[in-house]
Amino acid sequence: MLSTMQDVPLSIAQLLRHGSTVHADAEVVTWTDTGPRRESYGEVGRRAAALAHGLRSLGVTGDQRVATFMWNNAEHLEVYLAAPAMGAVLHTLNIRLFPAQLVHVANDAEDHVVIVDRSLFPLLAPHLPQLKTVRHVVVTGSDVTDCEVPQGMQLHSYEGLLAGRPETFDWPEVDERSAAAMCYTSGTTGDPKGVVYSPRSIYLHSMQVCMSDGPNIRQGDRALAVVPQFHAMSWGLPYAAFMIGASLVMPDRFLQPAPLAEIIASEKPTVAAAVPTIWQGLHLYLEQHPQDISSLREVLIGGSAVPPSLMHAFEADHQVTVLHAWGMTETSPLGSVARPPAGLTGDDMWSYRYTQGRFPASVQARLVDDGDNLVPHDGVGVGELEVRGPWITGSYYGIDDAAKFHDGWLRTGDVGSITPDGFLTLTDRTKDIIKSGGEWISSVDLENAVMGHPSVVEAAVIAVPDERWDERPLVAVVLREGSDTTVADLRDFLADKVAKWQVPENWALITEVPKTSVGKFDKKRLRADFRDGGLA
Ligand code: ADP
Repeated sequence: MLSTMQDVPLSIAQLLRHGSTVHADAEVVTWTDTGPRRESYGEVGRRAAALAHGLRSLGVTGDQRVATFMWNNAEHLEVYLAAPAMGAVLHTLNIRLFPAQLVHVANDAEDHVVIVDRSLFPLLAPHLPQLKTVRHVVVTGSDVTDCEVPQGMQLHSYEGLLAGRPETFDWPEVDERSAAAMCYTSGTTGDPKGVVYSPRSIYLHSMQVCMSDGPNIRQGDRALAVVPQFHAMSWGLPYAAFMIGASLVMPDRFLQPAPLAEIIASEKPTVAAAVPTIWQGLHLYLEQHPQDISSLREVLIGGSAVPPSLMHAFEADHQVTVLHAWGMTETSPLGSVARPPAGLTGDDMWSYRYTQGRFPASVQARLVDDGDNLVPHDGVGVGELEVRGPWITGSYYGIDDAAKFHDGWLRTGDVGSITPDGFLTLTDRTKDIIKSGGEWISSVDLENAVMGHPSVVEAAVIAVPDERWDERPLVAVVLREGSDTTVADLRDFLADKVAKWQVPENWALITEVPKTSVGKFDKKRLRADFRDGGLA
């Protein structure tokens, strides 16, 4: 028997219609050289319609790909809405990919149009001749003097493309399972692979971003999206904010601690999201240059493990709650969020907040061991995490990567344990595991422990070969400027925090941990740098 419910597809057009009318007064704020630029959601809706007409005039039909090479800003939000709502496919290009990867990704997706920020045009221009399918390059603003494109491509200004177009669009009804947006993994552990989201997955994921057991973005919030729109769809903030009527604060290219502190102090966001290294940098900066960031109710941190010391520092110094979350490009990206069970306080509460969090009802999770046997969720057993759900990818675009899937579940490559009440604790990525004398050492635990030392700014742990033990951990540490802390001090500090046999003997004092294109510790590069072990 079928239900009596209407079979109405979940759609980005509906999200756009709703946000731009019901929440017409919410705003997207874009930071510029001269301060904030404001645009209401009503205006975003009208400009998205004009953009859709403009894109049609460039021959965008069906599921053609509209790529963006952009910072987080109002125009990028307009493309986020217009392209999928008209049935085309948004493709967010990572502006920090190596050139060869960028060219590969644009050709693999067969991008037809690329919309590029004026400030980023010089970065993209040298690679345009290699983009085989791109016919149109649209540059934000109205001035394209000094911009040149190769033969076979046409150059347009973004404002010119919108000018004089109707401010409404007859949005088509699109199959909710079709392609709406694509994003490639950042290639931390291999070549970037394409993940394709649907209107259905985006819509359901946006609802989860607004749920009280999730990031809990609410009507009236002001969400500072520091996580780039090209990094796993800015963790779903743009769509969720538009759906629920939260304003968006977009930092554009002003991602350094000083402008971020200024943006927070003047735009007063209530929530914000970014990877740990951004918050680490901001916290250090605020120690020297105090600013009021107390407008923030919560900051969502994920992408890599959040050191407990960072959570406590934000709480103690700024009365800002850090919300730890886990996710992947492949999971849209929201997986688990560390909201402790109601009623807990003190250490009981903190022990939950340190974890990668609890999965929502829509995301099923399980752990498997090396032989693909299920590992019990008893908080002790460790295995590789596999997930399944309506916003989890079931394959990669154009490639058959069977090893990443297991009976319809995504193998995440992350290793950890799950408690009976559903909280995930990650110890490593499978590729980062340190096997010492037949035992595992968790690089995440070691990093968290070292980063708890007051003189340590950053610490990344990798495995280095060892004749006797097979592998041993190496800690690459960045100390505070002027600190006279020694390796012996750091080893002493670890004495009561990790088992004695785990205390590393290999240390490297460096000035900065290398970062990936999305700001995570680049362990691939560290491993190459310290192939033969390193000593301070
Ligand atoms: P890439 O895989 O290229 O780094 P993603 O941003 O999709 O790009 O990364 C997803 C991975 O990031 C996860 O598989 C996991 O290893 C790591 N990750 C994400 N959130 C956390 C977290 N809270 N704690 C530890 N690792 C995390």
